[in-house]
Amino acid sequence: MILVTGGAGYIGSHTCIELHNAGHDFVVFDNFSNSSSESLNRVAKIIGKEIKLVEGDIRDSAALQQVFDNYDIESVIHFAGLKAVGESVEMPLEYYDNNIVGTLHLCEVMKKNNCKKIVFSSSATVYGDPHTTPIKEDFPLSATNPYGKSKLFIEEILRDLYISDNEWKIVLLRYFNPVGAHKSGLIGEDPNGIPNNLMPFIAQTAVGKREHLSVFGNDYDTHDGTGVRDYIHVIDLSMGHVKAIEKINSVEKVLTVNLGTGKGYSVLDMVQAFEKASGKEIPYKITPRRSGDIAKCFADPSYAKAVLNWEATRDVNEMCEDSWRWQVNNPNGYKND
Ligand code: NAD
Ligand code: UDP
Repeated sequence: MILVTGGAGYIGSHTCIELHNAGHDFVVFDNFSNSSSESLNRVAKIIGKEIKLVEGDIRDSAALQQVFDNYDIESVIHFAGLKAVGESVEMPLEYYDNNIVGTLHLCEVMKKNNCKKIVFSSSATVYGDPHTTPIKEDFPLSATNPYGKSKLFIEEILRDLYISDNEWKIVLLRYFNPVGAHKSGLIGEDPNGIPNNLMPFIAQTAVGKREHLSVFGNDYDTHDGTGVRDYIHVIDLSMGHVKAIEKINSVEKVLTVNLGTGKGYSVLDMVQAFEKASGKEIPYKITPRRSGDIAKCFADPSYAKAVLNWEATRDVNEMCEDSWRWQVNNPNGYKND
C-alpha cells in the first residue's frame, strides 16, 4: 500500500488515478488546507472505486501513526505542503512549519514503522536563476523565497537521512510547471482566489472570470521578450511518480530527477495555444516584471528517461485543451457542489 500525502490536491489527485491505472493500492492523507474532499469523490468516480482516506495534518504524528496502524504502508509519495511563493514571503513561519516540520514528522513516523521509501515533490525553483538552459540535475541550487528554501532544506534533510541510514530509498522529483487536467474534465487545478500561476489565470480569463491577463514583462532575453517555462501535463507528471515508485527498490543513494518536457514556451506562446484550444480570445496587457521571476527555465529531461524510463508525451495543445475542458465544466472549481 502506498501512502499519498496531499493526495486530494492538484497533482496528488491525478497521481491517485495513475497509481490505480498501474495496479497500485493507495491511501490518501490530507488536511484539506488547500483542497476539498470533492476532488477525491471525483477520483473515485473516475476509477470506479472508493478512496481510502485519512484526514489529518502531517505535523500530527499521532494521526500519521494511525495510517500506519491501519494500513500496511510500504512507501510514501509526499505531496503535502504549501506552495504559493508570494504567500510564503508573507508567512514564512507557516511555510517552514508546514513544509519542513511536517516532513520531519512524516519521516520520523516512517522510520518508527520501518517504512523507508519516499518520493518527494521538489521543484525546479531549487535551481534559482540558472546560468544556462536546459537545466540538468547537477546545476547549482539556490532559493530566494521561503517556499523555495523549504524545498531546498527538505532535499538536504532527506540526503542527510540517507547518509544516516543507507536503507532509505529516496527519490526527489523536481517538477517544472505542471498544467492541464484529467481528460474527463472532472478534476483539475482549483486555486483559491485570484490565481498566481499563468495557466489557471489564462483559463479564468478565457471563461470570462477575469478581464485580462497581465503579462509580467516583455523585455526578457527570450524569443518574444516574455518569460519562458517548461509546461508539463499533470498526467505526464503523475506517470513520473508511478515510474519512481516502481523503481524505488533499485534506487542507490538519493535519486534526483527533473520532470519536465525539455521544451520552453513563452507567456505569449501559451496565450496563443490557449486561444486555439478554447476558441476564445484572451485579452492581455503588458505590465512590469514580477519581482523574483527569471527569464528562462526549462529542463534537460534526459536523466529521467535514462533512470526512470519516463518522458513526457503530451504537448501544449493537449495541455490547453484539457485545462479548458476542466475550466468550462467547473467554472468555480470544486465549489459548485
Ligand atoms: P496542492 O495545494 O493542490 O496540493 C497539496 C495538498 O497537500 C493539498 O491537498 C493540501 O490540502 C495538502 N496539505 C498541505 N499541507 C498539509 C499538511 N500539513 N498536512 C496534510 N495535508 C496537507 O498543490 P499541488 O500543486 O498538487 O502540489 C503538490 C506538491 O508539489 C507540493 O508539495 C508542491 O510544493 C509541489 N510542487 C508543485 C508545483 C506546482 O506548480 N503545482 C511545482 C513544483 C512542486
Ligand atoms: N505570468 C504572467 N502573468 C500571470 C502569471 C504568470 O505573465 O498572471 C508569467 C510569469 O512571469 C512566468 C510564467 O508566466 O514567466 C509562469 O509563471 P507561473 O507563476 O505560472 O510559474 P513560475 O513563475 O513558478 O514558473
